[in-house]
Amino acid sequence: MEILGKYGKWKYIGIINPIIIAAITIIVILSSCKSKTKEQTLDELWKIAHEICESNIILDSHIDWPDKHLSFPEDISKKTTKGDFDFVRSEDGGLNAVLSVAYINSIYGVDEGRIIVDSVIKLISGYVYNYPDKFAQAKNPHDINENFKNNLLSLPLCLENGMPIGNDLSYLKHLKDRGIVYITLNHNKVNQISDSNFDDNRKWNGLSPFGLEVIREMNRLGIMIDISHSTDSTVFQALRYSVAPIIASHSSCRHFTPGLERNLSDTLIKAIAKKNGVVMVNLCSMFLDSTCMENCSYLLNWYQTNGVDMDSDEGIDFARKYAETHQIKSNSEQVVDHIEHIIKLAGIDYVGIGSDYDGMGPSQPTDLPDVSSYPTLVFELLKRGYKEDDIKKILSGNFLRVWNEVIKTAESFD
Ligand SMILES: [Zn+2]
Repeated sequence: MEILGKYGKWKYIGIINPIIIAAITIIVILSSCKSKTKEQTLDELWKIAHEICESNIILDSHIDWPDKHLSFPEDISKKTTKGDFDFVRSEDGGLNAVLSVAYINSIYGVDEGRIIVDSVIKLISGYVYNYPDKFAQAKNPHDINENFKNNLLSLPLCLENGMPIGNDLSYLKHLKDRGIVYITLNHNKVNQISDSNFDDNRKWNGLSPFGLEVIREMNRLGIMIDISHSTDSTVFQALRYSVAPIIASHSSCRHFTPGLERNLSDTLIKAIAKKNGVVMVNLCSMFLDSTCMENCSYLLNWYQTNGVDMDSDEGIDFARKYAETHQIKSNSEQVVDHIEHIIKLAGIDYVGIGSDYDGMGPSQPTDLPDVSSYPTLVFELLKRGYKEDDIKKILSGNFLRVWNEVIKTAESFD
């Protein structure tokens, strides 16, 4: 059968052979995060940025490389030509843990959704099997730490869109056993669990009755609840009914994109932090800047209307010409503006990076084109006076804290 991913059609071929795959408060919060000890040159800061990326765990909570791979198979153990992610560029950027997304397009039903989940699980197993000196699976923060010590790139799994659960709560246990560590409740359309912020149909006004059961079962199993793509009502209800902290795996701040519900309001950011959760900032230019959003929306509509794949030669050429006269890319300063906004609202302990690489089409920030770019982000944080201890929290510490707490909450159920 043919499957429609974010990057066009790919063919499901059953079991994949691994060989083949081969204010005062604000001032206090900010001043506690920033160092004002001595002036350093930009060259010195650039060197420190690389050292920080080398010596600390960098975790990115949302990379769509499996979907890209299924549409455009390339060996990610080597440098690839199409995608934003591969092993070589991960090493360059100091990336150590990649939450690898099983993305389910909202057009699919339960059966197709489960086939995609199986395909992604087999894809990742294949890489871990074929390249044990490069990749490793990770089901919890302990695995992430151990893999880091052993110089292995962790590939924990996550599910974007809970649709394949169907009405069968027992499938959640299956997902947990296969290594799924978080589930994004929905994607661009309402599903059986909850409403989506890209869908005008607000069928449930938040979570469905079944969605409440899903929340409870995810809490019981220790699967993180991801509210990226959810409506405001869904997020408020997830916060109310979950007994564990929740995450936004790839969401930025609505403050910079007024009216865009895909990004989180100040109120929601503070509410997620109050429950000890974390907001992982999305690097997609569309979600960082309103002008980029407008122009990228035009591009995406053009691709759809004309039936052109954005990664085809024609698609790339069109985007390049369009970008000569229209802004479609943001930059690292704007990304750090979003990070800093969350710090101002909630503190340093509630923010991280969920890039959405391989899921953002041509709208990577100009100076953050792929997974080799984390030092550039750290450089910008250093320029603004942040210290290594705080940068470590943004790079992985905050997400790992929430993940640990979700697992601990699950242990208290029995
Ligand atoms: Zn997404």
